[in-house]
Amino acid sequence: MTQAILEADQIPTQNLAIIPILAPAPIAVYQKRAERLAKLAIDSPMVDYLTLLEQLVNMQVSLAKNADFGAMPSFVSGQEMPFSIEHCGDNQYWQVLLLELISGLLPVVSEQIAEVLQTLGQLDQAILADYGNALRRGEFSRVPAQYSLFIWAAMSVYWSHWAAKPIPELTHQVTDHKQLCPVCGSHPVVSMIKDKPRTGLRYLHCSLCETEWHMVRAACTVCDKDDKIYLWAEQEKQASVRIESCDHCHGYTKMLFTDIDPSLEAAVDDLATMYLIKYG
Ligand SMILES: [Zn+2]
Ligand SMILES: [Zn+2]
Repeated sequence: MTQAILEADQIPTQNLAIIPILAPAPIAVYQKRAERLAKLAIDSPMVDYLTLLEQLVNMQVSLAKNADFGAMPSFVSGQEMPFSIEHCGDNQYWQVLLLELISGLLPVVSEQIAEVLQTLGQLDQAILADYGNALRRGEFSRVPAQYSLFIWAAMSVYWSHWAAKPIPELTHQVTDHKQLCPVCGSHPVVSMIKDKPRTGLRYLHCSLCETEWHMVRAACTVCDKDDKIYLWAEQEKQASVRIESCDHCHGYTKMLFTDIDPSLEAAVDDLATMYLIKYG
C-alpha cells in the first residue's frame, strides 16, 4: 500500500504564477464596500458621514449593474496607462453617470446634502469637466470640497466599468510605473496583502478605477527604494492594518492584511484607520 506523503491541502492544484494586474469586478467591489460601511457605521461617531457614503456606494452598485456606459473609450492597444488623463482627459461620459447618481441620491439624503447635489447637477458641463480633470491631476483645491466626493464616485464607476478591457494587453509593460495604476494612472489608495494565489502577495488598489496591481513587498510604493522600510502597527504584531514607511522619501502606505481579516476593504478601511498615519 502506498502512503500519502502530502496532506491533500498541501498538493499544489493551482497555478501559482503571480498575476501582475487584477481587473476590477465593479459590482462586487462596491457591494463589499457598502457592506463594510454599514458594519462600521454601527456605533461610530461618524455615523452620518458613513451612512452618506453607504448610500453613495449603493448607488454605485446600482449604476455598475444598470447604467448605460456608452461606447467603449478608445485606447491604443498595449499603451501604458491607456485610460490616464493624458490619453482620456476629453472623455466626459462620466457626467451622464453623475446625473444618475444625483437623481438616485436626492430622495434618500439629508436636506443639506440634497442642496449640494442640486447645485452640482446644474453646473455647466465644461465646469464639471474641469473639476473632474483637476481631481484626476491631484489639484484638489481647485474643486469645491463639497462636490469632490460625488464627482470622484461617478468617475470611478465609469472607469472601473471599462478598466478590464485594456488589461490583457498590458501585462508585459507594468514594470515601469509601479507607483501609479497601470490602467488609469491614478495613485493607489492602499496596499492589499492577499493570501491567494500565494500568502503575502501585495497588490496596490487604484483609488479611481479599482484595478489592483502587484508590487513586491519591502519596496517603497512612492520612491521604489528597497531599504530603510519599516512596518508599524498600533498594538499587536499580527495587526490586520499596518503602516509601511520609508526613511528615504518619508512616504508611507497603509497595508491591509486580508489574509488576517478578509472583511477589510480598500477605501473604507483606509478611511476608518486615518488615525494610524501618525506613525507614517
Ligand atoms: Zn486605475
Ligand atoms: Zn520611499
